[in-house]
Amino acid sequence: MTHQHATRTPATRPDKHDFDTLSGNTWSVHGGNHADQTTGAIRTPIVMANSYRLPEDPSTIDDPGFTGLVYTREHGANQRGLEEKLARLDHGQAAAVFGTGMAALHAAFFTVLNPGDHAVVSNVVYMRVAGLFETVFPAKLGIEVDFVDITDLDAVRAALRPTTRLVHTEVIANPDLRVADIPALARIAHDAGALLTIDSTFTPPPMMRPLDHGADLVIHSLTKYYNGHGDAMGGAVIGNRELVEQVRTGALWHAGGAISPFNAWLIMRGSTTLPLRLARQCENAQAIAEFLAADPRVVHVSYPGLPSHEQHEVANSQLAGGFGGVVSFALGGTHTDRLAFVNDLRVITSAVSLGHDETLVAYEEYPEGPAAAFAQPFREHGLVRLAVGLESADDLIADLDVSLTTAYGPAH
Ligand SMILES: *Cc1c(COP(=O)(O)O)cnc(C)c1O
Repeated sequence: MTHQHATRTPATRPDKHDFDTLSGNTWSVHGGNHADQTTGAIRTPIVMANSYRLPEDPSTIDDPGFTGLVYTREHGANQRGLEEKLARLDHGQAAAVFGTGMAALHAAFFTVLNPGDHAVVSNVVYMRVAGLFETVFPAKLGIEVDFVDITDLDAVRAALRPTTRLVHTEVIANPDLRVADIPALARIAHDAGALLTIDSTFTPPPMMRPLDHGADLVIHSLTKYYNGHGDAMGGAVIGNRELVEQVRTGALWHAGGAISPFNAWLIMRGSTTLPLRLARQCENAQAIAEFLAADPRVVHVSYPGLPSHEQHEVANSQLAGGFGGVVSFALGGTHTDRLAFVNDLRVITSAVSLGHDETLVAYEEYPEGPAAAFAQPFREHGLVRLAVGLESADDLIADLDVSLTTAYGPAH
């Protein structure tokens, strides 16, 4: 009998400080963490100083090669470690972290766009992003915007102008969960001389790495899956070094949307378990989507993992390990019936946000405005967004089932 270890050639040993030798899961654990030189603590401590000792000749901080820390609005120990981890997880060269996802999104757009430029934006995006492009940027910066159905590539092409500088979308759109074809959009944007920015909040690594599919910048709300525990806010912009440095030195330094060291530390800790949490959330969401799709009391279910989803194939070709942790659905009856359903839930909490350890539900009627682009059942019946957590899928399904019965009677 041969013993395998006797004949095996020695493996190349990975090194936890050398990304090139590590898989993404190992980097999720070790990336950006630096043992403390003073105490020997094995985790980067929370450095709450707002200022760092200057070099003997302070003028050297302006040297291109200067790598020290100076002032926490611009860089701190916890921010730097988090940036190191995030950049590599998304296969970028650099990252800049911010106090919220919106600060990061604003910074990316503010960097890329100049007065008179034109942007093509998905007509279903996070509502504050829609607000930025509907009112703030046109009024304050003279930016022109077309909102298009991002799943209709001909409509995207038709919206392009000589002045188009930006195409922006989410991979899986909040809240109706339509799915954008990122490689196709990258080709369209680049052929027109525009950049493609992707809000990948719903699809963090290892599910999706938009930079690998041709995107120029990836933005995350770290508040959601990255932190994952519902107790901190943050945002990040990731991409090539040059563009990210423009985002940092322009928008972060001058507008000052910095993240606190404590929140950076919390997100760093939360992100260690991101691949495990995401796998569980995708698995739970798939089971719940299948339950809802089979239930006659549910009028419509949107989940990219269902074969009935219009962009199921596109989702399948881009995503790894699952189709995300959010399930959106529509319920019949009246507004009062739908409120009765939501308020009867015992495990699931009614609250905005997503990507948390606990399952959250947000029901909204859309009498007008942003919902104009949604699928017809959502316009007619409102939209229930279920942000699936880490509980047992059986408990979540039982909670949904009993509350459906409370509001609508039994399923048969
Ligand atoms: C929550 C969210 C944001 C905004 O992030 P904040 O951290 O709340 O500022 C942006 N995009 C998407 C898709 C989101 O879900």
